Amino acid sequence: MDQVFDVIVIGGGAAAASAVLTLHNRGKSALVVSNKVDTSSLWKAEKITNYPGLPAMTGEEMAELFRRQIEESGATVVTGRALSVLPMGDSFGVAVGSDYYMGKTVILAAGITREKLYPGEAEYLGRGVSYCATCDGMLYRGKTVAVIGTGEEAKEDADFLEGIGCTVLRFFQNGKFEVRGGMKADTLVFAGEEHKVDAVFIIKDTVSVTKLVPGLEYEQGGIAVDRRMATNVPGVFAAGDCTGKPFQLAKAAGEGNVAALSACDYIAKLGK
Ligand SMILES: Cc1cc2nc3c(=O)[nH]c(=O)nc-3n(C[C@H](O)[C@H](O)[C@H](O)COP(=O)(O)OP(=O)(O)OC[C@H]3O[C@@H](n4cnc5c(N)ncnc54)[C@H](O)[C@@H]3O)c2cc1C
Repeated sequence: MDQVFDVIVIGGGAAAASAVLTLHNRGKSALVVSNKVDTSSLWKAEKITNYPGLPAMTGEEMAELFRRQIEESGATVVTGRALSVLPMGDSFGVAVGSDYYMGKTVILAAGITREKLYPGEAEYLGRGVSYCATCDGMLYRGKTVAVIGTGEEAKEDADFLEGIGCTVLRFFQNGKFEVRGGMKADTLVFAGEEHKVDAVFIIKDTVSVTKLVPGLEYEQGGIAVDRRMATNVPGVFAAGDCTGKPFQLAKAAGEGNVAALSACDYIAKLGK
């Protein structure tokens, strides 16, 4: 897609919905990149009784409401996992699978990822560990790769890798995995067994925000932000659970609104 959006919002929960509605009111073009609606923390909530203006309802009902509002706001919506955010001068490139989108600013509204990294995962990321079969699969044509993941996407990616000529070891279960190697990953350890591999594809629903944006600063378990919801990376704002406690809907929505207004101010100053 050649269009440069004013704002790319990563996430599709309360924080993202609030940001997108404000961006719409301010006449800004927005691209929303989000996993499916049932991946929001909210989906698991039995009943929400403390969100102003709405009667008690289940988390599922409220999550669907937020998602519908996003879809009806006029924003372009891409369902998928943002893999990385790369600063490129006055704009940002956001990779989603093998697609790439451009935005003048980015709002991170990705919630929290409770999933722990496997030992060796961060160390070998880009050196034999990959999150994207479409992006990196061709590098391992004719070689042996492992695919780890419990969702449909992991199965599809394993089939895709086999289709392009990889020998695929499939690990469609949770468990204790470890990636080992030298300069590059060359071994996957699972259940006490060592498997010699050329690459390990780890296909999770989310990518920890710690890995989305290079150089992003953290404090007390969340992305460090100021009162304008600005991060330490100019042009990148954050809102909702990903900025830390309290993990509450009203806080997420409030921060989404502030982040959107700050993104508008940032855009107004670009090029001045
Ligand atoms: C069991 C439970 C009960 C709760 N009860 C209440 C309550 O009663 N009242 C209350 O106020 N709060 C409650 N909460 C907390 C509330 O659900 C969260 O504070 C709120 O959902 C946070 O909104 P968010 O937009 O920051 O994140 P989320 O709603 O989690 O949305 C983030 C979205 O971004 C997606 N995402 C993440 N990474 C990426 C990526 N790389 N690319 C694309 N998409 C990505 C996620 O998959 C997810 O869909 C509860 C939470 C739980 C788990």
